Amino acid sequence: MPQAVALPTTMDHKGRVKRLQGSLDEAEIDFLLITHLANIRYLTGFTGSSAVVLVDEQRCIIFTDGRYRSQAQEEVKGPKIMIASKSPLIAAAEWLQRSPAARAPRSKGKSFLSVGIESESMSAAALDRVAAQLKGKARLRSAPQFIERARMVKDAAEIGRIRQAVELGASLFKVALKKIRPGVPEVEVAGAMEYAARCAGADGMSFPTILASGTRSAIIHGRASQARIPARGFVVCDFGVILAGYCSDRTRTFHVGKPAADARYLYYAVLEAQQAAIEAVRPGATAADVDAAARSVLKRRKLDRYFTHSTGHGLGLEIHEAPRLALGQAQKLESGMVITIEPGAYIPGKWGVRIEDVVLVTSTGCEVLTPTDKELVVI
Ligand code: ZN
Ligand code: ZN
Repeated sequence: MPQAVALPTTMDHKGRVKRLQGSLDEAEIDFLLITHLANIRYLTGFTGSSAVVLVDEQRCIIFTDGRYRSQAQEEVKGPKIMIASKSPLIAAAEWLQRSPAARAPRSKGKSFLSVGIESESMSAAALDRVAAQLKGKARLRSAPQFIERARMVKDAAEIGRIRQAVELGASLFKVALKKIRPGVPEVEVAGAMEYAARCAGADGMSFPTILASGTRSAIIHGRASQARIPARGFVVCDFGVILAGYCSDRTRTFHVGKPAADARYLYYAVLEAQQAAIEAVRPGATAADVDAAARSVLKRRKLDRYFTHSTGHGLGLEIHEAPRLALGQAQKLESGMVITIEPGAYIPGKWGVRIEDVVLVTSTGCEVLTPTDKELVVI
């Protein structure tokens, strides 16, 4: 059983708010209304599930409800905390409507407030309510993804946390290896890993654990089911933990029983594709370049048509963040980005293989976080 993890240093919330405030003027936004909880956590450290943040050039105010009064006081240092008796979103809109501090900048010749919203995280109903509340006072518009862009490049404290999450995740494969035997239900393996993760201090899992054995290994997102592990075939094991808010994500594919020649061929083709993609990771390379590196290996092996998802994704406070490593993605990689590299090949009705690691883009290339042996493990 992995040991409980000692948690690392505090985050630079103050600096993050300051940098955000510095970008509002150019985008002609007087107030940014932040509704995406991961962005709220990134900016303020608040971990509750009900909050809205308003930011202008001078202020940062967090609105939450009474359930989170003491938690907000404990977690949020700097921003003003407002406890709403109703929905935090409506409280924020009311504040904008009523507060003398929320004035249209007449120096810029405007008679209304320009309020940026995070349209990806706001429902049409919520938008209607806010718009009704602010009628005549403010104009709402979709804001640029300032915070998502900032979150793409991790700072040292974040990298430290991701490193620990990945390390914990990697250690749990030992639990899986002990449990995977013919006849054992997939959920028992997943359950043992999840139990060990919680005991070691994980907040939870990054996503429902994927444990797909036999022909189910051909399902890309085969969540652990009641199916029993067959006497022979692949077992795809893809899971992540959340540790102090930060996600890990790793896939290993094991083989139960002696692998046939075509099973070994498939496994080593995917491994070669994964290594080629890892080698392509460096600052200045595009997300599409890395995807192409994996895809071209599988093409040479005549397996490219079985590789039907993207090569990877950013991760951090959320399991899927920018950038996305896929065809046509022009986003350039930068030092400090943390991404997964996870090519796979899935032959419907037969079997599938995926191999995934988390890598940190460095100034000269990349570092695989917690590298482990990737030779085919036969159980
Ligand atoms: Zn994964
Ligand atoms: Zn992934």
